[in-house]
Amino acid sequence: MNNLTDISYVKNVLSKHGFTFSKALGQNFLINPRVCPRMAEECGCGDNVGVIEIGPGAGVLTNELARISYKVVAIELDKRLIPVLEETLSEHKNVKIINGDVMKLDIAKIIREEFGGGEVVICANLPYYITSPIIMKLLEERLPINSLTVMVQKEAADRICAVPGTRESGAISAAVNYYSKPEFLFKVSKGSFLPAPKVDSAVIKLNILKNPPVSVKDEKMFFKVVKAAFSQRRKTLSNSLSSGLSISKSDISGILEQAGIKQTARAEEMTMEDFAAITETITLLH
Ligand code: SAM
Repeated sequence: MNNLTDISYVKNVLSKHGFTFSKALGQNFLINPRVCPRMAEECGCGDNVGVIEIGPGAGVLTNELARISYKVVAIELDKRLIPVLEETLSEHKNVKIINGDVMKLDIAKIIREEFGGGEVVICANLPYYITSPIIMKLLEERLPINSLTVMVQKEAADRICAVPGTRESGAISAAVNYYSKPEFLFKVSKGSFLPAPKVDSAVIKLNILKNPPVSVKDEKMFFKVVKAAFSQRRKTLSNSLSSGLSISKSDISGILEQAGIKQTARAEEMTMEDFAAITETITLLH
């Protein structure tokens, strides 16, 4: 059986196929044998729950997912890895590999075609250069999935899991909390990867919500408000909203007053309900 956490086996199979790591594609492969079984276990895939993996690399996580789930669909951008995966995953008949860019593929169509109406989760060790755009794409498309279990840089994990309204929160916390309930699962040290990145990582699980925690008439405006609020972290909320939304300072002052928010407030103090109140007031006035 192939051991994808055995460094000499992995190096051997990669060099046999002439593969060299691409920093630009965020290629840091997991070699810590404890991480992938735990991710596969905690992501919620199973006998009746299929799983989509993004960026299988040499297949170390795919291998564990294929042991637990009845079907794995793995999307890999780097075509040099396709023959590698065909070799390392040859014992699994329940894995389909798609060569493509997750940012460009129609994931809803893939889910329909590959899993019918069945339950699906997403599980991935994400490429770090594009973590937030991938997470936001998968959430914004409102895919019929139960959850997203992803490995990201530790700092990004802390930011995503921060409760809106607390000091650690940012635009991504509010955006992610609109679609899901984030859960911090466990930390992964930088030494768990080949090659080792500069910083530690963490695995988080985003449990998809049936309905958003706040209701707004104009969803696009909600996200514009959140983005503008955090665009200049050192400024007050009122200054950031004014420049980010191109609304005069006096109008913003009236909006904040009507939404029941103090003029000196900062973005990180805003709860989901506060952002919703600002959005509703702006939608009414503009
Ligand atoms: N899952 C493997 C592991 O844990 O060892 C590899 C993880 S590595 C951090 C990220 C993987 O994502 C790489 O294999 C990389 O080629 C792939 N990748 C990068 N950008 C991608 C994209 N836009 N779409 C799909 N895969 C991508």
